[in-house]
Amino acid sequence: MMHNFQSGSSADNFARQRRRLLDEIADDAAMTAIDTGRSAFSGKVMAALGSVDRHRFVSDEQIYSAYANHPLPIGHGQTISQPYIVALMTDLLDLEKTDRVLEIGTGSGYQAAVLSELVEHVYSVEIVAALGERARAKLNDLGYTNVSVKIGDGWEGWPEHAPYDAIIVTAAPEEIPPALVQQLKPGGKIVIPLGSIFGAQELVLATKYPDGGIVTRRLLPVSFVPFTGGN
Ligand code: SAH
Repeated sequence: MMHNFQSGSSADNFARQRRRLLDEIADDAAMTAIDTGRSAFSGKVMAALGSVDRHRFVSDEQIYSAYANHPLPIGHGQTISQPYIVALMTDLLDLEKTDRVLEIGTGSGYQAAVLSELVEHVYSVEIVAALGERARAKLNDLGYTNVSVKIGDGWEGWPEHAPYDAIIVTAAPEEIPPALVQQLKPGGKIVIPLGSIFGAQELVLATKYPDGGIVTRRLLPVSFVPFTGGN
């Protein structure tokens, strides 16, 4: 059998870069523990980050930056979040294998793939049709069968599959969309960047009480693309 040295060596290379990235994420987690309340992310979350091929979700021009710990452009003026932020937001949701999670802002599909390793099903809404369709095809090609992508305005959530155990928003609105609070189970968590287009943004963790009210905690400054659509 012919040995394809080229592809074998680049696969090893990506695997090595991914392991180094996990070390950087662990260092960042320790450094931000005072803000986030977590000095390390769970083994499950780190394993999920270690198993998703981030280089498959970026464009060919970005492929050699795929494992750098910073955001990357994904076209249409949008970005795939910094891996440390993906890890942090995922960890904050304290996900269980039986959970059904809603994501607003599918983008490249990378965050959805990470979530899909940890839960029963991921429902993800993307407002830019071309991005949503590309992510859906990509996730399908890579065998992520427990992710559904809808093209639409995430301001309305995805009511057909509610209630969700957890919700993650990866674009920044000025306030938590009320539909998302409605579509969250009591006891469930939302992680969301909040801020104005020109002002500072903060990553916020909100928990829903059985009476429907929410308590929010501001964690740390972040920089996400703006939430567009009907808010
Ligand atoms: N989670 C993505 C990163 C997405 S960047 C990933 O892993 O690649 C934020 C995304 O949110 C962009 O693709 C943007 O088009 C989308 N977005 C912005 N406003 C939205 C809205 N109202 N509803 C759904 N998606 C929205």
